Amino acid sequence: MQKSADAVIIGGGIIGLAVAFYLTKANYGKILLVEKEALFGTGATAKAAGGIRAQFTTKENIEMSMLSEKLFCSFKEDTGHEALFDQVGYMFLIKDDKDAEIFQKSYELQKSLGLKILKLKPEEIAQYAPHVSIEGVQFAMFCPDDGLGDPHEFLTGYEKAARKAGLEIAFDTEVTSIEQVDGKITKVITSQGDIETSMVINCAGPFAKEIGSMVGANVKVEPVRRQIVTTGELSFIEPFFPMVVDVSSGLYCHKESKGMLLGWADKNVKASYDISIDPDYTDNILERALELIPQLDEAEIGNEWAGLYEVTPDHRAIIGFEPTVQGMFHVTGFSGHGFMHAPAAGLVTAEILTGKKPSIDISEYAPDRFKEGQLIKETNVI
Ligand SMILES: Cc1cc2nc3c(=O)[nH]c(=O)nc-3n(C[C@H](O)[C@H](O)[C@H](O)COP(=O)(O)OP(=O)(O)OC[C@H]3O[C@@H](n4cnc5c(N)ncnc54)[C@H](O)[C@@H]3O)c2cc1C
Repeated sequence: MQKSADAVIIGGGIIGLAVAFYLTKANYGKILLVEKEALFGTGATAKAAGGIRAQFTTKENIEMSMLSEKLFCSFKEDTGHEALFDQVGYMFLIKDDKDAEIFQKSYELQKSLGLKILKLKPEEIAQYAPHVSIEGVQFAMFCPDDGLGDPHEFLTGYEKAARKAGLEIAFDTEVTSIEQVDGKITKVITSQGDIETSMVINCAGPFAKEIGSMVGANVKVEPVRRQIVTTGELSFIEPFFPMVVDVSSGLYCHKESKGMLLGWADKNVKASYDISIDPDYTDNILERALELIPQLDEAEIGNEWAGLYEVTPDHRAIIGFEPTVQGMFHVTGFSGHGFMHAPAAGLVTAEILTGKKPSIDISEYAPDRFKEGQLIKETNVI
């Protein structure tokens, strides 16, 4: 393969496809997406729980979500393809005083940005999330516009629309190095041959750091394993059951098929590419889930899997040009929010690369912010 392209997108997960969709829509030119696997969406995207929420502690993350939720709602109109954004809402249960203070503060910020957000008394929880234990709960935050989506459905919609608009795709093609001359990108070297280009968009998810290192850039993304368990069919789960997060235990759950999906972020897991299933991790999830929803004692385990978050030191994405190399743009480091932020990330990337003012200010996501050491951390991470 000896090819050329105006832009090469590395990575065919939800981020790479969202970027491809918005770039082709903006008539950027000839775009080639390279994916090392034989199919799209087999990386972190395949492992996501499907949660979509705007309840964050930082202004930029709230705005990214609010824009994304708008784009999830207009997905069919924009792409021509159907994908369900099931707006069952997202509920955070607050038990500890420290969390109460943080959530109260972010509630004010979210409201000031126009988010529809409800602060619920413990006795109001059951009408939105029946069967959830309210023991020790001080209050809950509930946003009815948040919800759930199937990342694969949205990825497929982006893919079909982008292909129709001229996107070229190379599967089974691993990027092995990137050449530059005088600080400008000239070529992408792959397992299937070379691609001449002056623009590379790094959408490699948990592998973004490896891609950065090919041009001498220090992309601050670490791969961190996260696990999920699903149950078999449950008699008691209502179709309106939302995503529920027990902030003190870190357990999150939502309806999944006819049962539930249960997840938990083990803060002690060290960065690595290991995605084997750890039985102790599974036990920890089940233990926490039983505390939250005692009726789960009737549940049978359906499935379980592990995948990688692509984590930055401040749990906020990296979107922007690599300052040291002309023609290198990163869209990565979503730290567990990459599915829900994909529409906004794709749109703002296309806007920036076509010289337009981005729909929202993403200067806080600049790749070089880590040098200054004054990071504003996103603390509502699960
Ligand atoms: C257990 C779990 C639960 C999650 N739950 C949620 C959730 O509820 N909501 C949410 O918003 N997010 C969630 N996430 C996070 C979300 O899945 C990710 O943020 C998102 O999928 C990142 O998408 P991506 O396209 O950047 O990465 P990926 O989907 O990993 O795609 C990157 C692609 O790059 C390819 N690639 C890598 N290196 C190369 C190379 N050298 N050459 C060619 N191709 C290459 C890979 O093969 C891969 O297909 C979850 C993640 C996990 C693990």
